[in-house]
Amino acid sequence: MTIGIVGAGQLGQMLALAGYPLGLDFLFFDRSADTPAGRIAPLLAGEFHDETLLAELARRSDVISFDWENISVGALRRAAHGTRIAPPLSALAVAQDRLAEKRCFERLSIPTTRFASVDSRASLSRAVDRVGLPGVLKTRRFGYDGKGQYVLRSRADIEPAWDALGSAPLLYEEFVPFEYEVSIIGVRTRAGEIGVYPLNRNYHVDGILRLTLAPWIAPALARAAQRALHKLLEHFNYVGVLTIEFFVHRGRLLANEIAPRVHNSGHWTIEGAVTSQFENHVRAIAGLPLGATAPRGHSAMINLIGTMPAAHSFLAEPGLHWHDYRKEPRHGRKLGHCTINESTASRRTARAKQLLPRLYPQLALRP
Ligand code: AMP
Repeated sequence: MTIGIVGAGQLGQMLALAGYPLGLDFLFFDRSADTPAGRIAPLLAGEFHDETLLAELARRSDVISFDWENISVGALRRAAHGTRIAPPLSALAVAQDRLAEKRCFERLSIPTTRFASVDSRASLSRAVDRVGLPGVLKTRRFGYDGKGQYVLRSRADIEPAWDALGSAPLLYEEFVPFEYEVSIIGVRTRAGEIGVYPLNRNYHVDGILRLTLAPWIAPALARAAQRALHKLLEHFNYVGVLTIEFFVHRGRLLANEIAPRVHNSGHWTIEGAVTSQFENHVRAIAGLPLGATAPRGHSAMINLIGTMPAAHSFLAEPGLHWHDYRKEPRHGRKLGHCTINESTASRRTARAKQLLPRLYPQLALRP
């Protein structure tokens, strides 16, 4: 069986590495073969909207999936010609549009930030009146890792915010002075079997994920996150892995966004769970039974961003797992990650505290 994947980044590479032992083949589609997945699997190179190439991907694949979100839903739907696509494009379309995403949360009674749609200078002013200050103006589409966002602290920021982002459809939402951020990752098969990983606690700097601690033990939050996850999985008749990111504000969850794919905050599952998110995504879309999502011990995952540190001194750390995506260094770019796994949460956190200053002096690890 061949799994076709649009996007050949590190997520695609980790999917293939998880799927090969199951006897599956992979075919990737990306702009260049010089990509993490392109180095380990066959790849069709072309622009993401190239329907001829997408049709070839569909013809040579038994099921099509994707490892990133900024692809054309229309082109993929037209080119698929009956080849199954998982996760469903309906979920991808919602994840691509922050306004559709917020409305979906509302419809499913999943608490989220207050928001208003913005399509003119005047509507931004009205949105600020309605939602309040401070707030965040975000592009509805093509935003990731905090890109395409402008924080407004006073009405004087309306003009510069509009000048910075006004050329695209926008969303204005309240700025949430959250206590911290968490995510939940789940997986659903075509038969409706669902597996859920434990809660992840995520630490961002400049909008980019730096550190995940998992499992994050917060039973009430975990139950609320699971409820939201089940609602979304059922709503989309979902197949594959789905991630929801939340703010924790006044002890409650506010949904921030969904990712219809394997997620950076689940990288720890490679060494820290009975079955990784990558293997379970592949199992689900290939029509295989799920593997257990239970954690093995307590993990910390640290992203390696911008420049790749020399592996040598880190590999000397007991039980540290190193992942180098072999990407060109660039400011703010995710180049790799490392994971440690310990038998208790306090030992895991102590190790993370010890490692972090070597990578992110600016990241203070609050309890
Ligand atoms: P996003 O691209 O929406 O995930 O935003 C990236 C990061 O910006 C989030 O992980 C938060 O740390 C921060 N952020 C986004 N929206 C808000 C908000 N409404 N209030 C406070 N912080 C936010």
